Amino acid sequence: MKTFYIETFGCQMNAHDSEKVVGTLLKTGYTQVAEAADAELIVYNTCSIRDKAEQKVFNRLQTFKRDGGKGKLFAVLGCVAQQEGERIFERAPHVSLVAGSASYTKLPEMLVQLEAGNRRVTGLSLDTNETFDTPFTRRDNPHRAYITIIEGCDKACAYCVVPFTRGPERSRTGESVMREAASLTELGYTEVQLLGQNVNSYRDPSSAGWDFAALLTEVGQIQGMRRVRFTTSHPRDFVKNIIDAIDEHPTLCNHVHLPVQSGSSEVLSRMHRLYSRDQYMRRIEWMKNARRDIAITTDIIVGFPGETEAEFEQTLKLAEEVEYDSMFIFKYSKRPNTPALEYEDHIPEDEKTRRFTVLQERQRAIQMRRNAKYVGTTEQVHVEGYNLATSQWIGRTMQNKTLNFQDPGLPAPDGGKTLVGRYLDVLVTRAGPNSLAGERADRCAN
Ligand code: SAM
Ligand code: SF4
Repeated sequence: MKTFYIETFGCQMNAHDSEKVVGTLLKTGYTQVAEAADAELIVYNTCSIRDKAEQKVFNRLQTFKRDGGKGKLFAVLGCVAQQEGERIFERAPHVSLVAGSASYTKLPEMLVQLEAGNRRVTGLSLDTNETFDTPFTRRDNPHRAYITIIEGCDKACAYCVVPFTRGPERSRTGESVMREAASLTELGYTEVQLLGQNVNSYRDPSSAGWDFAALLTEVGQIQGMRRVRFTTSHPRDFVKNIIDAIDEHPTLCNHVHLPVQSGSSEVLSRMHRLYSRDQYMRRIEWMKNARRDIAITTDIIVGFPGETEAEFEQTLKLAEEVEYDSMFIFKYSKRPNTPALEYEDHIPEDEKTRRFTVLQERQRAIQMRRNAKYVGTTEQVHVEGYNLATSQWIGRTMQNKTLNFQDPGLPAPDGGKTLVGRYLDVLVTRAGPNSLAGERADRCAN
């Protein structure tokens, strides 16, 4: 019996890649174990978007080096693998397999080499037009299924490693996406999330030639599909017909994650983001003018090289203007091979931290305001779990907000009785900056 343990770092793309890697390993005769100590093969699916993420995997590997890790095989997959390549064998000689995501289609062959005793197996070519399209995906989340529609990235943001670690942009055919989505509804999934570094750059490579809005519309019309989410969208390729599709099809979630990175056109230009502040704001206007109330979330980098106080102020102003529903804030992190590394005027760490805190506090107040507007409204949630500590069910709204609620009819899971997986109407009674709270409104809902 061959056993493996897998740990995943980073974004949803990585989480979903791991589901496919697990599926492939199970298919080739491995059994998954919950503890690294019990595994013969230890797999780390890594992230290198920021320095801290990259360090995590080396810390993990270091532990095993100290403890021996004898009799075990170690595989480093994902972005750190692609970025560091064979250098990983020098830094951590107990590692035997190093492969980036563009090589995962060759995973079965790499495993054969590993089992044959090869201690330096690599999959590092970025020269591919393939996507990791596998029927063996082992999904972790029983209610929301991820579907990759596009892999890699053809942009070249000055701070970002992704184009080096995930290879060129390549879209799956609309037909294969539809086949996967339909098979998921047959398995009982009612919610899917379409994934890609820039989903809206999607272009069906088959003769159908669907753009992203066409794909969204088709997936949203599959029998049994109740919610379609997507992430991440790049502002440059974000066109109005995506909003029109959301307006017209109630199964498409009214939530758009549109990373702005900075509120200053000068900084955006130095970042090579390919849009100005005004162009970004035009897209926000489309969303604000939509018929449906679209939740807008974003990513922001503070302390990009050369960011002046005035430029940072423009980010604060933009956040106030847009009134984001939520925001991921990152302190700029120096990444290997990226143009920004060579830029002058790197911002000291404590100043980055100050800007991070100022923006975080400002955003907290905005979220408090935004969420308070939902008090008194009834929202439909997809129930995701139960929180024993607070004795509340955990629901998620169409707009991707967490809405915790109580149901006097079923205060807690009871034997086989649960609300998890159901769609219910909940009356919002309280709002905090990060979540809403309420009570089940319609006990007759399905
Ligand atoms: N493709 C998406 C886009 O262009 O908006 C972003 C994908 S990236 C994996 C996720 C986020 O990580 C980015 O939006 C950016 O805010 C952040 N990020 C990327 N490189 C970074 C760096 N060197 N330092 C800090 N944050 C970074
Ligand atoms: Fe990175 Fe820019 Fe590509 Fe997004 S668009 S993955 S930030 S290079």
